[in-house]
Amino acid sequence: MHRPGRHFLQIPGPTNVPDRVLRAIDAPTIDHRGPDFAQLGLEVLDGLRWVFGTEGPVVIYPASGTGAWEAAIVNTLSPGDKVIASETGHFATLWREMAERLGLEVVWLEGDWRHGASPERIADALDDDVRAVMVVHNETSTGVTSRIADVRAALGDHPALLLVDTISSLGSIDYRHDEWGVDVTVGGSQKGLMLPAGLSFNAVSEKALSASRDASLPRSYWDWKPIIAANEAGFWPYTSATNLLYGLREAIAILREEGLDNVFARHARHAAATRAAVQGWGLEVLAVDEREFSGALTAVLLDGSDEVRRVILERFDMSLGAGLGKLKDQIFRIGHLGDFNDLMLAGTLSGVQMGLQLAGHDVGDGVTPALEVLKQ
Ligand code: PLP
Repeated sequence: MHRPGRHFLQIPGPTNVPDRVLRAIDAPTIDHRGPDFAQLGLEVLDGLRWVFGTEGPVVIYPASGTGAWEAAIVNTLSPGDKVIASETGHFATLWREMAERLGLEVVWLEGDWRHGASPERIADALDDDVRAVMVVHNETSTGVTSRIADVRAALGDHPALLLVDTISSLGSIDYRHDEWGVDVTVGGSQKGLMLPAGLSFNAVSEKALSASRDASLPRSYWDWKPIIAANEAGFWPYTSATNLLYGLREAIAILREEGLDNVFARHARHAAATRAAVQGWGLEVLAVDEREFSGALTAVLLDGSDEVRRVILERFDMSLGAGLGKLKDQIFRIGHLGDFNDLMLAGTLSGVQMGLQLAGHDVGDGVTPALEVLKQ
C-alpha cells in the first residue's frame, strides 16, 4: 500500500541516500578497464584519503563492512597471533568471533556495553606477544564512541598494530587515521558516507603494509598487494562496483562542500538535541561517560522497546534501530547520521515521543528541550 511522504529511516545505518547520490549512481556503466574509469578510480581513492585523514593507501572492496574487517585481519596477522579486543558491544563481539575463527588468540577485555574501550585496561593487557589491538570506534549497538587517540597513547612504544572499525563513524564523527597513528582503519559505505551498502574500506599505514609482507594468514581476494598495485593507475584487479563508485564520488563531493568539521559539528549537535529529548522523556541514555557519547546515534534504555518500535513504524512510518544481542528489547536506537538536518531530527523525535505515549509509556515532553538545543 502506498504511504504518502518519505519513510523516516532512523536506524543507525544504512542511512538516507541523498538524491544527488541516487542520481549519480543512476548512470550507464562504463568499461572498468577504460580511461574514463581510471579517472573515476583515482578521484575516489584521493577523496577517501581525505575522508580518512591519511596520505597512505585506502583499499576499496565491493563488500559490506564485514569483508573489510576480515581484510584488516588477514593482511596483517598470522595464525596463533595474540590480539587484544575490548567488549564494547555487539559489533566488537562479532569482530572478536571472526578473529577467533581465523585462528587468532584473542585477549577479550570484558565490558558492560555502556562504555568504550578503556585505554588503561588495554595498556595493562599488553605484553611482548601482543601483535594487534582491535577497537570499534563507534559501537553502533550501544551509541558509545571509544577514544582512539587515547588508546593509541596507551600503546606507547609497543609495536602492536592498532586496528580500528569506523564503519559507523566515518564521515560523521571526528576521525584521523594518520594523526592518531592508526594502522588499519575499517570503513563502510552505508552510514556517514550516505551510500547504499556494498563498499567497504581499509586505510593502511606504512607499518601495516610492512606487517602484511610477513603476515601468513591465508588470503587471496582480500590481499591488499594486487589491489594497491592496480590502484596506481585507477583500476582494480577484478570487476569494480562502478555505479557505487559514481555514488561515492558524489558523496565525497557533498562532504567537501559542507566541510568535514561542519559535518562532525552537525552530528554532535543532533546528538546533543537527542539526549535533551531523552532527558525530557525521563528516560536514560545507554552511554554513561559523556566523553564517549556518540554523534551518530543515541541508544535509549527501555524495557519492551520492540513494541514501541512496532507502533512507531505502523503509525508514523519510521524505522528505529532495535536492541542487538543481549540488548534485544532493552533499548531502542535513534540514528541521526548521514544526510540529516534539524527538521528531520525534530520530526524523528516527535515520532518517538508520540510512539512512546501511544505504547503506554508515561513520558514527559522531550521535543521542546530538543528544539531549544536546535535553536542555539
Ligand atoms: N562494525 C560496525 C560498527 C557496524 O555498525 C557494522 C554494521 O552495522 C559492522 C561492523 C558490520 O558491517 P556490515 O553489516 O556492513 O558487514
